[in-house]
Formats: sequence, C-alpha cells, structure tokens
Amino acid sequence: MSRPWRVAVASIIQETNTFSPRESTLADFAVQGLWTGAEADERSRGSNTEIAGALERLREAGVDAVPVVRAWAMSDGILAADAMAELERMLVVGLAEAGPLDAVVLCLHGALVAVDAPAADARLAAAARYVVGPIPLVVTHDLHANVTPAVIRSATAVIGFHTYPHVDQAATGRRAAELVLAALGGQAPGLGTVLAKRPMLVPAEAQAIADEPMAGIRRLADALTHGPVLDVSIFPVQPWLDVPHLGFGVTVTYTGDEEVAIAAAEAVADAAWNARADFTLDLVPVDDAVASLGPAGPDGPAILVHSADSPTAGATADDATVIGALLKAGRPLRAIATVVDAPAVARCREAGVGATVDLVLGATLDDRWSSPVAVTGVVRRVDETPVVLTGASMTGQEIALGRWATVETDSGLAILVTERPAPTFDPQGFRHAGLEPADADVVVVRSATIFRAGFRGLHSSATVLDLPGASTPAFGYLDFVHAPRPLFGLDAMTDLAPAARR
Ligand SMILES: [Zn+2]
Repeated sequence: MSRPWRVAVASIIQETNTFSPRESTLADFAVQGLWTGAEADERSRGSNTEIAGALERLREAGVDAVPVVRAWAMSDGILAADAMAELERMLVVGLAEAGPLDAVVLCLHGALVAVDAPAADARLAAAARYVVGPIPLVVTHDLHANVTPAVIRSATAVIGFHTYPHVDQAATGRRAAELVLAALGGQAPGLGTVLAKRPMLVPAEAQAIADEPMAGIRRLADALTHGPVLDVSIFPVQPWLDVPHLGFGVTVTYTGDEEVAIAAAEAVADAAWNARADFTLDLVPVDDAVASLGPAGPDGPAILVHSADSPTAGATADDATVIGALLKAGRPLRAIATVVDAPAVARCREAGVGATVDLVLGATLDDRWSSPVAVTGVVRRVDETPVVLTGASMTGQEIALGRWATVETDSGLAILVTERPAPTFDPQGFRHAGLEPADADVVVVRSATIFRAGFRGLHSSATVLDLPGASTPAFGYLDFVHAPRPLFGLDAMTDLAPAARR
C-alpha cells in the first residue's frame, strides 16, 4: 500500500502599514504566539484561521498534514530585517525537516513589508519554492493583499479571502487544501494562477463585500467561476502601503486553459476599474459627530469609527482625539473607548483599583496626528490577561493586550488603556475588560470595516470620522513616494492607457 500524501502547512501573517512610525520585531510575533510543529497545530485547532482550516481539510482527506510554523502578529509598521530573516529561516528549516513533501499550503497576508523586502510575502513564497522544488505550492492571502507578479511566479496557485469583514479565514485554508488535493489527485492538470491589476487605491471603509460596488464585482467573480476557472479572488488592497506594484488585484486560479483565466481576470479587473468612483465614503468631522450623539437607540449604541488609528490596519491606536472630544462635549453619556498608553497603564497600576488618577493620554507612540488629552477618572480594573476573540472574525484567536487598566470618568466615559492595541472590532475586546457595549450609548471602535461583523445587531449607527492618522481613509494626509503613479485615489485619472492593463 502506498503511503498517504504528505502536505506541509505554514502560516506567517502580518499586515504592514508603511506609514506607522514603529518598526515591528520578532517580539511582536512572540507575544501573540510563535509556534512550530505540533504546537502550531494544537493551539490553532478550532480557530477561524487559514492554518486551522487547511490542516482540518487535509486530515479529513486522509492526508499526512504537517504543521510547520504559525507566526501571527497584529498589523504594524515595517518589519525589521532580522525578524524577516528569522521568519524565513523558520519556514525554510521547517519545510526541509518536514520532507519529503508532496505539496505545501502557505498562508501569508500578502501585505507584509520588511525593511529589506518591499514584497516580503513574495520572498517567503520564493524561499518555500526553493526548498520544496516543483510540487504544488498553494498560497493564501488576505483580501487586502497587494498581490505581486513575484508571488504568482513562485506559487502554483494563489487564492484570497472572499469576504470583508473577513469571516472566511478557515474556509480559505480549506479551499487551499482542496486545490492541493485536486492537484495531487490529478483533477487539476496545469493548475496555475494569473493576476490582473489596476492602478487604483480605494478606502477600506468602502470595500465591504455586502455593499456596492464590491458586491457586484464579487457577483461577477462568482459567475465566472466554472469550468477551468477554479477560483476568482478580488484584492482591493489595504491602502496604507507605499510600495512598488501597489494596486487593485484580481487573481484567477485555473486548470488547463490559461487564456480563459486571463480573460476572466481582466473582466473582473475592468469591472473594478469602471466602478472606481463608486467606492465612496462619508467622512464626518469629530466635533460634528460628537455633537449629534445621544442615548443609545433601540438597536444599541452609536459607533464612532476612528479608523484613522486602527491597529488592525497597523496604526498605533494611541490617538486620544475622540476621547478628548467626548470629554469636551461635557454631556453625560455612557461611552466606551480604548487607547494604547503604556505609561498611563503603569500609573493606574501604581495608584490601584478605586483610586482617582489624573492621566495625560495618547500620542505616546505616534505624535504626528494628535496631542495628548488630560483625563481624570477612577481606576476600575488592572489586569494583563489576553482576550480570546468570540466574534465572527478570527474566532477563537487569542490577542495579547500587554498590561491594561480601565478608567471611568464622572461623565460616564470608560476607557480601556492598554500596552498593546485592543481588538475593538470584536465586542469581546471590550467585554473582556468589563465594558459592555450593549450598556453603552457610544462605542469608539478603531476599525475600518471588520467591526461591522462583530457589532452586527449591536449598534444603531456608525459614523466614520474625518481624522488624519497612519490608517486614515483620507489619503491626502499621507505622503506616498514608492507607489506607482498615477494611481486613482491619489491622482486625478479619467481613464487608463491600454498599456497600463495587465
Ligand atoms: Zn484584511
């Protein structure tokens, strides 16, 4: 009897925001769990993550599935060169030790930038290819990936999430496993992926898959997925990424007929290009948004969307502008908010639970966009436990907050102050600290769109604030120097030269 197929699964995921002032390091992965071998499997199992989905599907098919590495960090600034080298080493050594292999599933974000690698995911894919040779190598990407020709060349196939807010991480891992099974079983001869790109940058807040224009583009992608076309993935790209090759991508994964795949990719990319002006967004000045606040509606609190300082988009989450605006309004409102401020956490711990503290919150990591805000409140909790997500996105994943405290002002504002960013896209990010969104009039989230899954049925309105920041939807605040120009979103573009296609 022949041995079962042996397939390695590796996951190295961080989304880079090149406008963050922070350089991210291996410690940012280690604090969230940097696991190899059996630990990568055991600690991921059952979570809504690509690695868990891929391992599960391969095992269902009787494959000898080998977990190699699971490295995940919160979105952050550009990755230090030594951290990139170590992650690459872990991947290469892990794959070499796992051999001989029949195939690989490699889960990457697709928007990782290292100091010495503007397309770091492509470098990881190339390293994996170098080690394993000409066997099926299927790469998964986040929908916000900036897909490069280099990653397409290294991988056999590249697929991405089909959802935003992202709820199909495990499902995407399963789809990658299906492609591997088809390739190994001989059902996908000539398996490959083609890429079409368009020079456009659109706000993440306008990319929700249920809303137009993304819904229509996704419908077209689904309609074209038949026959030799096995998968169509749409990559509107996360826009806080100043790199060469930046643009809106579409991949088509196919078997056999490349011409059909190219035609499908171009058709979907054209649909996106033709809809470029429909990725619109209403931005509201923070004082206007705060002035219109009142008691919670029948469906729950009003949400103030501080997406300009979103940690899931790589910003530092230390801008206290909205906290300042709520305090300045001076009205009694039950509001909950978060801020990263390590010195303030230390002060709260020193003072102890029940003590009244005078804090100066914010702008400890990135002082380009905001000023610190004076806050007086009572320390309600001090703790350092991580949060385990329970919402629809990244369900079951544990997120380290570092040490943290909650402080409540006499106007009813409760602030979760953390050393590391809290995941405000999931109500559990607040509940974990004893702050109940359902009991609040106002919730301040630092998230562009993912919060719409977590807070479904738990908010009466969501107002996107017009603020600068490393993850601002108002790109005019940001200085792009490496991105190819002209680029719709940064430049006036009435049409596209034929040469710009493909
Ligand atoms: Zn994403």
